Amino acid sequence: MTFFDSSTWDGRISSGGWVRGGGGSADVVEPATGNTIGSYGVGSTEDVSRAVEQGRAAQREWMALPYPERSAVFRRAGQLVDDNADVLSDWLVREAGSGRGKAAFEASLVSGEYFGATAVVEAPYGQLLRTHVPRLSMARRLPVGVVGVISPFNFPAILASRSVAPALAAGNAVVLKPDPRTAVSGGLFFAEVLREAGLPEGLFHVLPGGADLGSALVEHPDVRVISFTGSTAAGRKVGEAAGRLLKRAHLELGGNNALIVLDDVDVPAAVSAGAWGSFLHQGQICMTTGRHLVHESIYDEYVERLTATAAGIPVGNPATTEAPLGPVIDAGQRDRIHDLVTRSGEAGARITTGGTFDGLFYRPTVIADSGMSHPAFAEEVFGPVAPVAKFSTVEEAVALATQSDYGLALGILTRDVMRALDLAERIPSGIVHINDQTVDDEPTAPFGGVGASGTGSRFGGVEANIEAFTETQWVTMQGEIARYPF
Ligand code: NAD
Repeated sequence: MTFFDSSTWDGRISSGGWVRGGGGSADVVEPATGNTIGSYGVGSTEDVSRAVEQGRAAQREWMALPYPERSAVFRRAGQLVDDNADVLSDWLVREAGSGRGKAAFEASLVSGEYFGATAVVEAPYGQLLRTHVPRLSMARRLPVGVVGVISPFNFPAILASRSVAPALAAGNAVVLKPDPRTAVSGGLFFAEVLREAGLPEGLFHVLPGGADLGSALVEHPDVRVISFTGSTAAGRKVGEAAGRLLKRAHLELGGNNALIVLDDVDVPAAVSAGAWGSFLHQGQICMTTGRHLVHESIYDEYVERLTATAAGIPVGNPATTEAPLGPVIDAGQRDRIHDLVTRSGEAGARITTGGTFDGLFYRPTVIADSGMSHPAFAEEVFGPVAPVAKFSTVEEAVALATQSDYGLALGILTRDVMRALDLAERIPSGIVHINDQTVDDEPTAPFGGVGASGTGSRFGGVEANIEAFTETQWVTMQGEIARYPF
């Protein structure tokens, strides 16, 4: 196994043509220390063309391989990820600033994507249809050809793999453009995994780089489906370009997720769930709990307990300490978080803890008495910030929850689960957890958002994955040529 150890890696990539870096070199920077821990080749627009061309050619042979050979590749890939989970975790800690727990959780999710891809290979791939003439009529699912995957920095390994694995399994070639800040854990690692697992040459390409390279991938005429995970602003641009070019774009975008805490809860348990939802991975998760909506009868106790919990969470270098929270990804992100928090304070919200930072280490922050006039409540923060608002009736809670344009995840905490189910119908959201906070993911669940959180397309589970990465072809077949009046 040639996986790069993050403590000794010299920046070389052994996977040859699997990784394209004709656009110069970039450093891998450890956010916790600012140290350079490696370097990699940046993809160029010529690399995009070469990768897509090779992918197109290799895809036809891949699709024609007997299915047991194809599914064996994903079984081996899942096993390789499991066998090397500590290597992947280490990269997630050092390159992405993940706490050890988050990194281990992410690594375990990733192997599930590759094991789960075997089911995509082996699943039925069409339907027999009723027809009014004596013939066979069927709808079959065919690969689209080349799929472009563009992924973000925050859960780099899972957010790349949840598209890469099923898109390949559905018979496609894949060109992956990871975020340049997480090129190893979001891309290069998987070139190694899939090469070692026996995926044929030419089918998978990793091109680390920025927005320009992503845009070149979207614009390439032979990339028929784009799977984009990232911000709503960038997703709009990708969606516009894809619309103009008449190609499908799956857009998984931002969130500003509400956690509704009703009056009948066990408050310490609710606070623990809420703190996890807001602070895990420094709040850099699309499903982060961005708005705590709490019933007035328990509001003061909730704020007090959440403040104490936040104040007690250690923040530090996850590679050298046991701290569950690490650094945010870079100074730009930290400054954006601090600006939203500071302006919320200036606009009258009450910062009960946090609101300070040391380098890239931002203290878990609670902002009480929040509302739409406070930017940290109204916008996606993507930082360890928990804005809390008070409501007195369920109607008010629904009104507060639906003030956001986003619709990714919703949590409802109550002993009355039927009341929660009713609430879930009234608040547009792609994901709802009753008696849990907003952050969760499983390879078997169809994941996706509505409104400003995306186009409602889904990844996860065989059905959604086949839908996302294939085209339908209607085929009829009869023994003799049909007869017509002229
Ligand atoms: P971003 O949109 O800036 O970048 C995401 C990826 O898109 C990167 O690889 C980037 O290089 C690329 N990119 C940026 N502009 C592009 C363009 N015009 N054309 C093509 N590619 C482009 O996102 P970010 O701020 O780094 O990541 C955080 C955002 O991602 C948050 O808004 C978060 O909510 C969202 N996110 C969503 C999900 C989800 O599943 N819904 C998951 C994780 C993160």
